[in-house]
Amino acid sequence: MMKTSDIIETAEEHLIHTYNRYQIVFDHGDGVYLYDNDGREYLDFCAGIAVFALGYNNKCYNDALKVQIDKIVHTSNYYYSKPMAMAAKMITEVSGMSRVFFTNSGTEAVEGAIKLAKKYGYLKDGSNDHEIIAMDHSFHGRSMGALSVTGNKKYQEAFGPLIPGIRFAKYNDLDSVKALVNDKTSAIIFETVQGEGGIYPADKEFIQGIRKLCDERDILLILDEIQCGMGRTGTMFAYEQYGIKPDVVTIAKAIGCGIPMGAFAVNEKASGVLVAGDHGSTYGGNPLACAACVNVLEQFKNLDILENVKETGAYLFDKLEELKDRIPAIKAHRGMGLIQGIELDESVSAGEVVKKAIESGLILITAGNNVIRFIPPLIIKKEHVDKMTDILENCF
Ligand SMILES: *Cc1c(COP(=O)(O)O)cnc(C)c1O
Repeated sequence: MMKTSDIIETAEEHLIHTYNRYQIVFDHGDGVYLYDNDGREYLDFCAGIAVFALGYNNKCYNDALKVQIDKIVHTSNYYYSKPMAMAAKMITEVSGMSRVFFTNSGTEAVEGAIKLAKKYGYLKDGSNDHEIIAMDHSFHGRSMGALSVTGNKKYQEAFGPLIPGIRFAKYNDLDSVKALVNDKTSAIIFETVQGEGGIYPADKEFIQGIRKLCDERDILLILDEIQCGMGRTGTMFAYEQYGIKPDVVTIAKAIGCGIPMGAFAVNEKASGVLVAGDHGSTYGGNPLACAACVNVLEQFKNLDILENVKETGAYLFDKLEELKDRIPAIKAHRGMGLIQGIELDESVSAGEVVKKAIESGLILITAGNNVIRFIPPLIIKKEHVDKMTDILENCF
């Protein structure tokens, strides 16, 4: 067996240092627990950043992948496969959208949505000077297009010039959006629940107001549900709880439960915008990724995942409210279902608390400005919530 310190040393010697990693080597997982190279157990409230919805070592998922591996892992998008057809059908059904394009990541899903918005504007008047409105404190990915709509100066600073025509409004401030709209606006993009930015759910008036604005001005509404979609808020997509639908939705993270996969899905209005030759991907929607997606969506039904998220999410909400009442350093608590966050005052660093939690066998991550984020596997139970809040309270 390779020693933990040797693995870390080897990685540090050969990787580009784009992450300050915790000094843990994970070896395997089971349910909502992870095990490190030395056999230590961790309760996981991160799920590989909102990815592993079904829990680790899920036999049904593992078996479905093994069956597909023995058939065929990859063909090209010049041909069809059954997993691709079935995954596309199932994604349109659960999202209420008409058509879908498969990608390999969330960033690429956003990238595709941006290209679609550009072409949508271009088809209107044949010009390339259309604008996209995005939000402060948003996160949409690290590629040049996705980074261009990510409202975080720190991530953008060294990488300009980014794509032109992007304007930033204040999240949950409808007037700030209206002030930026003009005849050249082709799309408005935001997360239904801001994730990395600090767990901010959209206000009902904000999202419904934007939907109305988009209809009136022929603007595409792109909702990024890469983190908050796939059941995490208690409905398959968070927008269902606002009584609206986007024109384009971006999906990733839990869609493949660990197999790299993403998608953007479009309604009828946006369906004919991209045509043969406009967009493509070698891997996107390959048989293995789509087999994972099909299995995930089947298990969502069979395991009553949404019911569990509603029930355990409400329980987590109450427990965190109680914690907030007991611990003065917690100044706010926000979220929906199993995407929640607590914001700390200046007396305590969220990063330090997370570090202590990890030392105590609990995996948490931070978000935004001094926020601790809770995005566990969607199969988590009340007993795990109790265990988590006990450990967390001790860390304070
Ligand atoms: C994670 C995330 C992305 C980027 O997805 P990747 O798979 O890391 O490329 C985009 N938008 C949101 C809201 C995310 O949470």
